[in-house]
Amino acid sequence: MTDKILIFDFEYKLRLNKNSENMMKALVLGAGGFIGNHLAKRLKSEGYFVRGIDLTPPEFNETSCDEFIVGDLRDNVFCKKHINEPFDELYQLAADMGGAGYLFSGENDFNVMHNSALINLNVINLAIEHGIKKVFYSSSACIYPRYNQTDPSNPKCSEDSAYPADPDSEYGWEKLFSERLYLSANRNYGLSVHIARFHNVYGPHGAWNNGKEKAPAALCRKVAEATNDSQIEIWGNGKQTRSFLYIDDCLDGIRKLMNSGFTGPVNIGSEEMISINDFANMIIQLSGKNIHLKNVEGPVGVNGRTSHNRLAEEKLSWQPAYTLLEGITKTYQWINEQVLLTIKTSV
Ligand code: NAD
Repeated sequence: MTDKILIFDFEYKLRLNKNSENMMKALVLGAGGFIGNHLAKRLKSEGYFVRGIDLTPPEFNETSCDEFIVGDLRDNVFCKKHINEPFDELYQLAADMGGAGYLFSGENDFNVMHNSALINLNVINLAIEHGIKKVFYSSSACIYPRYNQTDPSNPKCSEDSAYPADPDSEYGWEKLFSERLYLSANRNYGLSVHIARFHNVYGPHGAWNNGKEKAPAALCRKVAEATNDSQIEIWGNGKQTRSFLYIDDCLDGIRKLMNSGFTGPVNIGSEEMISINDFANMIIQLSGKNIHLKNVEGPVGVNGRTSHNRLAEEKLSWQPAYTLLEGITKTYQWINEQVLLTIKTSV
């Protein structure tokens, strides 16, 4: 067990809804994180009673959860205390993760595998024990094999291409293991399991400067911090391609999957593929500044990756609604505000 993360042994309730008895009850694990925080808000807007659990409350705004319990999901005793009833829906989003700088440096490999696997082993066991009616598991595009993602203009990430497995990170291997864990609970215990493979979800209120930020937030921050007529560093040759999914589209995908009879795994991503250099230039244009790119060595992952949405369309009638330009405009505005706020408070 790592000593880097404190194990909290207390709980506090930020808000308690006394009329919760007739409401649908959801448990969101990782509710202090980027997607979990947005998801809790969405579930509240749909009339759910929401219990959230995380190591920390959300960093950038107040939680929407009715109950928010601070604690460590690696700790089986803590889990038994709080995953303790037949919730209508459980959303498992808690994981030890970050962007390329965190996942591909090699320095966090053990923690990433050990911490997330422990969380999933604890959670699935209690979901079975308490007869939780539906379970959502957040897997990742990082499970797809390296050998299908060498050509930046033609990566293959359809759901049926996951095997023979060869993910490019330990994070991907853990996700693949946990997919199989949830699928086996479905087969052996009849648990209603729904698995999404997210592809690069981004939007406001996500990590942007703590070393766990992913490419969209990192690029927005670099551009927002840069002065006119300067340059920003881009990891790799910038020709590597990715697609990015705006948070609201991700939430729609999650909800559609949970309301479907489909187990998955299914891609929840965008098919709008772009090179990292072109993406950076899109953000620079939004900023109105004159900024040049300097491609430098850095952790980049596979050469190309994008979502393939045929299955999501067929099973969930889901496709993203936001273009990359629309989504990144909202995200850049928020990160630019954070950067300005930081400058203001430091002078
Ligand atoms: P995030 O890091 O913002 O949220 C994860 C949350 O899990 C964090 O708040 C963290 O504190 C919490 N957590 C970690 N260890 C914990 C522990 N031991 N006990 C309790 N809480 C713990 O990440 P996110 O972007 O919101 O991603 C949510 C899920 O979706 C993750 O499982 C992630 O792997 C998956 N996913 C995300 C993306 C993406 O682009 N954001 C892509 C693919 C998959």
